[in-house]
Amino acid sequence: MSTPFIAQEIKGIISAGSKGQAAMPVVVAVPKELAPGEQRVASVPDVVQKLTKSGYEIRIEHDAGTSAYYPDDLFTAAGAKIAYNRAELLDSARIVLRVQPPTVTDVDQLAEGTIVIGFMNPTNNLDAIARMRDRKITAFALEFVPRITRAQSMDALSSQATAAGYVAAILGADNCPKFLPMLTTAAGTIRPATVLILGAGVAGLMAIATAKRLGAIVEAYDVRRAAGEQVRSLGARFLELEINAEAHGGYARELTPEEKAMEQQMVSAAVARADIVITTAAIPGRKAPLLITKETVMMMRPGAVIVDLAAESGGNCELTQAGKTVREYGVTLIGPQNLPARVPFHSSQMYAKNLLSFLALLVDNNGVLVKEFTDEILAASLLVHAGEVRHGPTRDLLSAGKP
Ligand code: NAD
Repeated sequence: MSTPFIAQEIKGIISAGSKGQAAMPVVVAVPKELAPGEQRVASVPDVVQKLTKSGYEIRIEHDAGTSAYYPDDLFTAAGAKIAYNRAELLDSARIVLRVQPPTVTDVDQLAEGTIVIGFMNPTNNLDAIARMRDRKITAFALEFVPRITRAQSMDALSSQATAAGYVAAILGADNCPKFLPMLTTAAGTIRPATVLILGAGVAGLMAIATAKRLGAIVEAYDVRRAAGEQVRSLGARFLELEINAEAHGGYARELTPEEKAMEQQMVSAAVARADIVITTAAIPGRKAPLLITKETVMMMRPGAVIVDLAAESGGNCELTQAGKTVREYGVTLIGPQNLPARVPFHSSQMYAKNLLSFLALLVDNNGVLVKEFTDEILAASLLVHAGEVRHGPTRDLLSAGKP
């Protein structure tokens, strides 16, 4: 996947003014992520260097990259200025790059017209979104970047799901009392472990690839039949059911009650023979589908592990507890939150490159910030602008009586 290098596309200084005006570098701020457990940072030195060469002025909050193993001095060497006062950093910014959504406190530091780019998780951040609306902040939500070919390099959902899938397989292996590969040793032959992946989207495919590399026998299932080809190309076995639930945009639709019963039966049999089960099944905007009931967990092998990536949206397993690891009926159930933060070095690197590509949409050929967000990708991801919430479902939630 190639990321467009902004410096090749933009000649001259990136400026906030229109053509002919004195060029004022656009100040891009990268605050430290303060959400509990968040280790990532929204930019990394390589990307800062490219942005600086393109004419942006990059200001990074002191220690913003430390927990992702990008210390301040690497940012300084890449051309960034280190900011020691968060309020001043936010107040001085034209563009703010973030991983997690802004808090109300941070929004209150921003000047009118500031552009904030990051994950916005609107359902859980209505207060901050209302405040951005009222303070006339412009917010782009990376989760709404459309999954079209042109947007692949800025698809942060995919880059972070890749990280999550990798960590899920490692977590599963770490909690499994068995070896994953087949071993032939003087002390006897070890059979390979069986890993089952439910949901073969971006995270699921990465979990399959990682479990295969660790030497396990891998099986996978997805309601989208198109996923079968990708699963098989990774050397895993695809479990077939006479259902194709692919809906608009490549996402899955909800199954009918009869389809759900058929799915349950087939999935239960596969879960019962697995040593590690990684579940990633999600339906955008809805509670995660229940794929593993308590009865199925009771059928599993002692020591088996379930890593439920859908824990934050209700869980694919009935016994999952979000944010906790519990043991039930001899099975370890892991309900992880924010897995990309466990590989912060690379998840930050990928995220920063996503943002680099996204930023290229915000300037015209003269290096001037665009005023109209008519580009399909900008229009789709524009959450708040000029005192209005532009995303219909979020607007409905807000007018349903919340803030
Ligand atoms: P997701 O996180 O929304 O869901 C994960 C997986 O769970 C999906 O593959 C889904 O089909 C599956 N699933 C849902 N209900 C299920 C059930 N009951 N049983 C089993 N599996 C179930 O998915 P994602 O990783 O965001 O990817 C969604 C789609 O978008 C995929 O088709 C993917 O290939 C596509 N995609 C396209 C692009 C692009 O073209 N730029 C980029 C990324 C993803």
